Amino acid sequence: MHDHLIVGGGIIGLLTARYLSQAGANVTLLERHQIGRESSWAGGGILSPLYPWRYAEPVNALARWSQQHYRTLADELQADTGIDPEWIQSGLLILDRDETSRATAWAATAGARLDIIDHDTLARIEPAVGEPPESGLLFPEFAQVRNPCLLKALRQDVQARGVRIIESAEVSHLLHENGRIGGVATADGSSIAAERVIIACGAWSASLLRELGQAIDITPVRGQMLLYRGKPGLLKHVVLHRGHYAIPRRDGRLLFGSTLEDVGFDKTVTEQARHELEHAAQALIPALAEIPLERHWAGLRPASPNGIPYIGAHPQIEGLYINAGHFRNGVVMAPASAHLLVDLLLGRRPVLDPTPFALDTHASAA
Ligand SMILES: Cc1cc2nc3c(=O)[nH]c(=O)nc-3n(C[C@H](O)[C@H](O)[C@H](O)COP(=O)(O)OP(=O)(O)OC[C@H]3O[C@@H](n4cnc5c(N)ncnc54)[C@H](O)[C@@H]3O)c2cc1C
Repeated sequence: MHDHLIVGGGIIGLLTARYLSQAGANVTLLERHQIGRESSWAGGGILSPLYPWRYAEPVNALARWSQQHYRTLADELQADTGIDPEWIQSGLLILDRDETSRATAWAATAGARLDIIDHDTLARIEPAVGEPPESGLLFPEFAQVRNPCLLKALRQDVQARGVRIIESAEVSHLLHENGRIGGVATADGSSIAAERVIIACGAWSASLLRELGQAIDITPVRGQMLLYRGKPGLLKHVVLHRGHYAIPRRDGRLLFGSTLEDVGFDKTVTEQARHELEHAAQALIPALAEIPLERHWAGLRPASPNGIPYIGAHPQIEGLYINAGHFRNGVVMAPASAHLLVDLLLGRRPVLDPTPFALDTHASAA
């Protein structure tokens, strides 16, 4: 009998495993394929919602808590595993002038530093931007992580803490009796008994809960991304313009994203999206026309109503918990989201008010 069985080895499952094991709990992590190869790998690693003022307060509350703890998390992981998650305070530079008044109002209430940058300063600090607007919005404190490195570090970290990782194990359904979880059944026909089961299956979370009669609203939204093999220093900030963003990595690679597509569980990449993204990338940073495209991929974001994740206990099945539905902001929200769930699991005082994330709050809001 396992104490805590986490289903899903993305950033949410891994961080939940880390915090549980740090508290001395016995943890097993089950992953259908390989750890950290789905949405958490495919994402950009920007540690802020793109236009934070467009999001509900519960999303920003999770993002804020995480932003305050990410640097320490990255430092600890690097010290303990030798893998650098590349937390970089590159700032977020938004070139949409029509967002200025909403950005200014939001920054004032959120306590976020915002610098309004004029055209000449923009041209000086980001000379690679083709046609700098009259002014830009710079959030200098926002950071990024290199999410594939973060996932590798987390995997090594939780293993070193004694978390048992089982890969190539797809949970086909949940086992429960008399309103209590008993474990999970896997696609190869075996069953694994557990006191507590935590669903952290990202975009795939809803199907496991459906047979319990609990309709949770999590659907896949495909995002395609391009990776350029650039040179260090081409861009200094994460730059956002009209919903497209460029993310400069330390080694000069540059990510450009992304699409938002409602195509079900289909992760194939399309020529149309590549053209559209290349066009937008070169319009923003003309030098990209001469820089080789290294890779093009797609991931499935776990979309939920208003992007607010489900975090907490299942209202009917004792011992069953969920941590899923982080949509476009799962990397930035992950530390807060995982910490909050672990607080609830261990009966500790929660780091944030859990009400907006509870399954029954979502159900009544829907
Ligand atoms: C293109 C793109 C760009 C993004 N950019 C950003 C960004 O810049 N910043 C940000 O904060 N967020 C970003 N996101 C969103 C972020 O990546 C997601 O919100 C986050 O990764 C969700 O994490 P997760 O662990 O819930 O899901 P996942 O990483 O998808 O992990 C779920 C895991 O569960 C496993 N699983 C599923 N079903 C089962 C089963 N039945 N049995 C066992 N295992 C199962 C899967 O194989 C998978 O490994 C982006 C996403 C995409 C696609």
